[in-house]
Amino acid sequence: MTAAGTIAVITGASSGIGAATARQLATAGYHVIVTARRKDRIEALAAELTAAGQRATAYALDVTDRAAVNAFAAELDRFPSVNVLINNAGGALGADPVATGDPADWRQMYETNVLGTLNVTQALLPALTASGDGTVLVLSSTAGHSTYEGGAGYVAAKHGAHVLAETLRLEIVGTPVRVIEIAPGMVKTDEFATTRFHGDTEKAAKVYAGVAEPLTADDVADTITWAVTRPSHVNIDLLVVRPRAQASNSKVYREL
Ligand code: NAP
Repeated sequence: MTAAGTIAVITGASSGIGAATARQLATAGYHVIVTARRKDRIEALAAELTAAGQRATAYALDVTDRAAVNAFAAELDRFPSVNVLINNAGGALGADPVATGDPADWRQMYETNVLGTLNVTQALLPALTASGDGTVLVLSSTAGHSTYEGGAGYVAAKHGAHVLAETLRLEIVGTPVRVIEIAPGMVKTDEFATTRFHGDTEKAAKVYAGVAEPLTADDVADTITWAVTRPSHVNIDLLVVRPRAQASNSKVYREL
């Protein structure tokens, strides 16, 4: 897909992988629509990109609010076409065993990672199809493909996101929309682990302790940008990307 004149919507663009993806897609020539709940963050990002001569528009959006998502989709009618949707909003809450996990954490993870992706994908699919050359990208995780102790709530939610992507690809084959899933392993972003541990920065730091080079938000954004900019007939179904120091979700080399 060539970027000139094309619109890419990115959810969860206020930090980490979403913000890095917005920057890279804007550099690649896309007009990026950056969305997240924190309005100040996405407005600052859009202003930064616009000041650099790129095209960016901010729109405050909670992906779990279906009415708000539908209103957002209606707003997009003012653009000639919508070509790319990056479903990135999501994350983990808690790392408790199944025996003691908090159902409220599990519910919120399902709401954000699965239903949020469903809401935005359903709302934008007609426009992506009408564009004649659409891409839906789901940012799942290696947690969407195998489990680890203490991860069940997040693992279950990301399996849901993976299944959504895989099923949608089956259902819309023959339409001009491709479905890409990117599944990263350990990525050191500013907020992911701190959010997971409800603000406990000490616990968050332990996630990356002794790991020489976890992936960065830019590494994942690079992978996303590569997948999205392949020619339209090329569908990167699933791309798993981990740091060299990580062989599986629970097998990580640490220099301690
Ligand atoms: P992050 O910095 O915490 O980013 C999460 C983003 O999601 C934020 O921009 C947040 O923005 C947004 N978000 C959360 N709930 C939302 C909601 N209800 N509506 C709209 N936006 C919402 O973490 P990250 O590391 O960049 O993670 C980005 C994605 O990659 C997530 O889906 C995560 O599960 C996935 N992932 C991360 C890793 C990792 O190790 N870091 C590995 C594999 C996959 P607001 O709070 O402003 O709404």
